[in-house]
Amino acid sequence: MEDRHSEKKKGIRWGRLLLWICVTAVTVAAIWFLLQLVPKEDENVDLLLEAPVEIDTEPQTETESEFPAESVVPAPLIDKQPLTINEFSRPGEKVDAIEYIVIHYLGNPKTTAQQNHDYFESLKDLQDTSMSANYVVGIDGEIIECVPPGEIAYASNSMNHLSVSIENCHLDESGRFTQETYDSCVHLAAYLAARYDIDREHIIRHYDVTGKECPLYYVEHEDKWEEFKDDVMNYIDECKKAVSQG
Ligand SMILES: [Zn+2]
Repeated sequence: MEDRHSEKKKGIRWGRLLLWICVTAVTVAAIWFLLQLVPKEDENVDLLLEAPVEIDTEPQTETESEFPAESVVPAPLIDKQPLTINEFSRPGEKVDAIEYIVIHYLGNPKTTAQQNHDYFESLKDLQDTSMSANYVVGIDGEIIECVPPGEIAYASNSMNHLSVSIENCHLDESGRFTQETYDSCVHLAAYLAARYDIDREHIIRHYDVTGKECPLYYVEHEDKWEEFKDDVMNYIDECKKAVSQG
């Protein structure tokens, strides 16, 4: 009887030990689980640091700083109206280099620089066409910067990642620029060419990239195109002379 009694006692002791081990294990597991739910301090810091990057819409500042800020040609008056970053007109991506200036015409007579800027901006909502340009020169010679130089604009197809693009407004189907548009385009191209060290052979037409008749008048009149490039280079030379003469 005594043996059976002590065996029973032993059984109870083992049972309690087992129960204690189980309870401890469950408690430790529960505490570990709860600790996982509490955000760690480091993660919070990361979230705070990441937040501004997601809403950063001005990467061009960094891009532009990689290029010379000064040009021997004084900058023309430029109305900077950067497009909202979006996949249809301003992807917010850096170009690989600024090696070319590509000249365009809009092919939409009598529209203003502002209207074309606003059209590029609206593409983020229309979401059916990709189009833009770094600059649009208007009929009265006004210049609007839509995409900062050093950032990709959707104007020149395979040259987008190597160029800065200038769109030009015009009054009629011939695509000929008004004198004001022409003069501003020459000034802007001279400013950009001097700033990014671009020579005459690297000032090109959209036509030279894809064969598209753009800018139409300067595709149909090769002599006028050569004259345009001469005017740009002469503008730079005049500015260099003025600087050297102090
Ligand atoms: Zn074009």
